[in-house]
Amino acid sequence: MKNIIMLICVNLLLLSDISSQKEPKATEVWIPEARVVTPAKNNTPPSDAIVLFDGKNLEEWSSMGDAKAEWEIADNCMTVLKGKGNIKTKRDFGDIQLHIEWRSPAIVKEDGQDRGNSGVFFQQRYEVQILDNYNNKTYSNGQAGSVYKQHIPLVNACKKPGEWQTYDIIFMAPKFNKDNIKIRSGSLTVLHNGVLVQNHVEVKGTTENVGQPKNIAHGKAPIMLQDHSNPVSYRNIWVREL
Ligand code: MG
Repeated sequence: MKNIIMLICVNLLLLSDISSQKEPKATEVWIPEARVVTPAKNNTPPSDAIVLFDGKNLEEWSSMGDAKAEWEIADNCMTVLKGKGNIKTKRDFGDIQLHIEWRSPAIVKEDGQDRGNSGVFFQQRYEVQILDNYNNKTYSNGQAGSVYKQHIPLVNACKKPGEWQTYDIIFMAPKFNKDNIKIRSGSLTVLHNGVLVQNHVEVKGTTENVGQPKNIAHGKAPIMLQDHSNPVSYRNIWVREL
């Protein structure tokens, strides 16, 4: 008798499980709920973004020596002032979504790596290349949209020199354990002018011009923009911490 009751119970459980699998509500999740963010509109950032540059001042930026950032500000954009060096955010960041707009000089002077070269470095170490690659050949893993010397962009989505271009980038920072050993590589996803050019690629380490990537443990760190002696301009820079 006991066995028969057990059998009936198991069957009832199975039946209820099967019926729940046919019930859409059984797999609905209501909690937690996604928080509301007002999306970007007419060049304004999303409501939860940290604005790093709105065309007015360099208050969010400093020189590499923590002095005042000295790039030129005019016409609601900032421009690399040759010799003033790289600039970096005063804030440190880990995983982020970054929106940044850049423009290479309208008047084309040099070629290869000397035409509209700058770069956005995550955590001061990992560069997504900025370069005027509109009809300008260079090594593929060093062109615009490359993770410098690590990943060739999937396509060349460059606009003409002098036109504003966008990068929308998801950066996931590498993780190091308490013994300073890297236990998870960072990753980068990059949209160049709305076109996917890097699809969740591995950040192999620092993006070196010479030699192999390095993996020295670090924590959160600033975003850095490169002075490569070319007057590249920037505007509308914002970041969302992830
Ligand atoms: Mg560069």
